[in-house]
Amino acid sequence: NENQAVLDVQKIRKTYGRVEALREIDLRVAAGEFLTLLGASGSGKTTLLRIIAGFETPDSGRVSIRGADMTWASAAERQIGMVFQNYALFPHLTVLENVMFPLEMRRITRRAAADRARAALDSVHLGVFGDRYPRQLSGGQQQRVALARAIVFEPSLLLLDEPFSALDRRLRESMQQEVKQLQSSLGLTTIFITHDQEEALVMSDRIAVIGGGAIRQIGTPAEIYYHPNSISVATFVGESNIFEGAPKGRSFYAASGAHFSLAAPTDCNRMLIRPEAITLSRASVPADPREANVFAAQVLDRSFVGGFTVYRVRLAQGDEVSVRAIAREDAIFQPGETLQLTVAPADCRP
Ligand code: ADP
Ligand code: MG
Repeated sequence: NENQAVLDVQKIRKTYGRVEALREIDLRVAAGEFLTLLGASGSGKTTLLRIIAGFETPDSGRVSIRGADMTWASAAERQIGMVFQNYALFPHLTVLENVMFPLEMRRITRRAAADRARAALDSVHLGVFGDRYPRQLSGGQQQRVALARAIVFEPSLLLLDEPFSALDRRLRESMQQEVKQLQSSLGLTTIFITHDQEEALVMSDRIAVIGGGAIRQIGTPAEIYYHPNSISVATFVGESNIFEGAPKGRSFYAASGAHFSLAAPTDCNRMLIRPEAITLSRASVPADPREANVFAAQVLDRSFVGGFTVYRVRLAQGDEVSVRAIAREDAIFQPGETLQLTVAPADCRP
């Protein structure tokens, strides 16, 4: 059955002494899906992955893989490939021998194992490095060896625990592209762990935001970004301006008194505006309130981030707002300047 979940995690709990590492986790991952567990350090990501992989047992709950209960199965029985932050290669084995290792564990002949390991190394563009030792490779190359070793036995599930966090930014970005391409070309069902929201947004089919041992929200990157279900998710994923206040039909009255028109009625007493949804201008544009919310605002400070500029401004009503504008040389606003701030009702998200 193509639509069957490859992984079905039900009501998983895990405590260490008094620490509730996982509170009650439910998670289903479909065949070929790339799912990211996104959460701050200590939120329970690694514990959940270790329970899925079979390195750790839950206090209660169930882990099924392709419909079979695997809660108490050994790691070896689960056919799961795993990549860790610190590569964890065998230093005394060559690159090729490292990648052959899981096949030899499975009693595949040495010759067949070598052929498959070479193919796996080719798929991560390391075909020519088979005879080297791990210490002779860069960090990025070592991590690609670890990836080859994790996929060489065609695992039913690939788990990656912060695999790029030891790499510098540029290398991390190219590894993100490479892993994503490999994952989709092989159709690998993948769970990826990161605490980096940008990495999660770039790579995932779906993101599960985890906090305090519980899944706070699960959805596509766009759902998580545009429709966060809580302030904690909104502030964890991307920048946001959050207004507390009172709704009235298609209006929202911020506590400061600032009045926003909305695209649809709401009864939510909080509203979110992403910084890039706001426009600043010097000219005063008479606006139809059904098409735009218009405010007078003063620039407090700005930071030029190349490509865009982040302004902190204060509305005449008093609210402080962060604005992310495409950097244009002819529109650089100075601290102290009074401007017109506009935001479309559709971008005011209850
Ligand atoms: P993350 O991977 O999101 O950083 P972890 O799953 O490693 O989080 O940890 C979740 C919580 O469980 C933390 O409070 C951590 O200190 C605790 N924890 C994890 N493993 C153990 C362990 N083996 N013994 C005691 N506490 C642990
Ligand atoms: Mg961890």
